[in-house]
Amino acid sequence: MYQGSCLCGDVTIEINGGIESIIHCHCSKCRKSSGTAYATNGFVARAGFIIKTGQEKIGYYEMAPGKKRHFCKVCASPIFSSNDASPELLRLRLGILDTDIVERPMSHNFMSSRASWDDLDAELPQYDGHEPSRAGR
Ligand SMILES: [Zn+2]
Ligand SMILES: [Zn+2]
Repeated sequence: MYQGSCLCGDVTIEINGGIESIIHCHCSKCRKSSGTAYATNGFVARAGFIIKTGQEKIGYYEMAPGKKRHFCKVCASPIFSSNDASPELLRLRLGILDTDIVERPMSHNFMSSRASWDDLDAELPQYDGHEPSRAGR
């Protein structure tokens, strides 16, 4: 069982079952909705997805008919997306997870629409927190 919560903590979720087809999506829609270089998404079964608290705080943006992106109305955290064409599945935004998972991402997708500054440069320095030059900002 996996657990997750939004930034403000009002929405808490539980996932019973695994997460399938985890990918890093660099498409422009995921970049805009997450505010980052890419979003990491995976399928979970709707039957095993439980909203423990904050159901009434969840709003959605219907991007196309039947395709909804659900988010916390208080803190704007992306939580999952749904598609009426495949109602048995939800597309989880993995950033909301609080527990570790056994599954791992399998690919970077929509690389043709990635941001020009998103170069996946594994050679860049790595820090556990902010970069040292960030102090005070
Ligand atoms: Zn929230
Ligand atoms: Zn995407």
